Amino acid sequence: MTIRGVTQAAGDLADVQVNPYEMMLQQLDMVREYTGIPDGVWKILRQPERALEVSVPIVRDDGEIEVFTGYRVQYNSARGPCKGGIRFHPDVTEDEVKALAGWMTWKCAVVNVPYGGGKGGVSVDPARLTRSELERLTRRYTAMIYPLIGVRKDIPAPDVNTNAEVMNWIVDTAGVLGGEAVPGIVTGKAIEMGGAAGRREATGRGVMVVTLGVLERLGIDVGGVRVAVQGFGNVGSIAAQLLAEQGASIVGISDISGGYHCPTGFDIEDVLQYVKSSPGHLLAGYDARGVEEVTNGELLSLDVDVLIPAALEAQITARNAADVRARVIVEGANGPTTPEADLILGENGVLIVPDILANAGGVVCSYFEWVQNIQCFPWEEEQTNQRLGAIMVRALDEVWALGQGRAVSLRLAAFILGVERVAAAVRMRGVFP
Ligand code: NAD
Repeated sequence: MTIRGVTQAAGDLADVQVNPYEMMLQQLDMVREYTGIPDGVWKILRQPERALEVSVPIVRDDGEIEVFTGYRVQYNSARGPCKGGIRFHPDVTEDEVKALAGWMTWKCAVVNVPYGGGKGGVSVDPARLTRSELERLTRRYTAMIYPLIGVRKDIPAPDVNTNAEVMNWIVDTAGVLGGEAVPGIVTGKAIEMGGAAGRREATGRGVMVVTLGVLERLGIDVGGVRVAVQGFGNVGSIAAQLLAEQGASIVGISDISGGYHCPTGFDIEDVLQYVKSSPGHLLAGYDARGVEEVTNGELLSLDVDVLIPAALEAQITARNAADVRARVIVEGANGPTTPEADLILGENGVLIVPDILANAGGVVCSYFEWVQNIQCFPWEEEQTNQRLGAIMVRALDEVWALGQGRAVSLRLAAFILGVERVAAAVRMRGVFP
């Protein structure tokens, strides 16, 4: 693993920056001894199919030109068109996008939706852009990756700092460039544009479903279970809201602006209202009664039953893993736990529900949205939520059974399940020409 240096992110959050691509490959390599995947197929699985780097020039509102760097990576398409979000963040690198595209590949296979894995991103701090600059950035980035994306080729979706509005601009730009309506070219768009009712909540809903499933298996009643959530964006805030609705007590929350601890449990609806109208939609300044400020580092080590990292990669590392007091970690984010931290947590008896299972609700619902777009036949939200729940429960059942059967961690079990499915498709396709 590459340790690139020491950074200070959101207080004392992360002291080491890990190369996520090396981390993803390290996780992949751990699977090898448990599978009979032939050498040649293995070589294919260890490489992204395609990685495109683009420059994204925009005219700022003051007339100056600024150029950003963007990426789109298609990791593997053996099981279907590539699928994966677009991230706007200053730390986006080609290696990060490759890692995220790899995790998408295994994730789509774990939940058995007919997709390969992709991912995209632009290295930019969107908080520094006005709305019109963000729109120009999105449209130009879309034009630059346009040769790669398509309803049957590669379908983006929202990720960190992108949302339905960004997806709407992508649909429109692709429609103008191609001269035809292509709602199915992205998922996570507004419902008025062909989005699926329930997609915005889907990743958080999936996190809630697997959390309940795991608690049940551990014989823990969700009523009063104490939960801490790192990251209060799309995934973290909805997971917190839905778990609170199930009776859990959300005692810790945080975002890039800082963290809060409320031992008696937050009124999550109140927090959501606050964030909706706060500058930058941040938690900063949330000063409801009984709320104590904590650093993000302290948040990760709160005395809770369930910890949900739902921000970025490599938040739980060799440095802070021993401080984690949660009994269960449910990975809402992609790659929040490094392999070194995995070992420490395993030794300490912490059960980790891995990202490629825990946060798959988003891509499952994206699949539903795409199906609705292709068929021009929208579903009711209730139907979406019910089917989403069924797929998440099935995936958890399969991963759990494989983990028990082979006496391996849930991460290893999920990787074995996902990687073997992708390997089977690679083998059956053969190698062109
Ligand atoms: P988002 O932009 O909506 O929210 C990210 C949250 O993390 C924000 O609250 C932000 O303030 C916080 N954050 C950022 N840096 C932080 C830091 N250093 N410390 C603490 N908090 C920090 O993004 P999202 O869509 O919720 O994605 C979060 C994670 O979930 C990412 O890893 C993403 O890849 C993963 N994920 C997202 C989806 C989806 O459907 N949106 C699906 C699967 C996985």
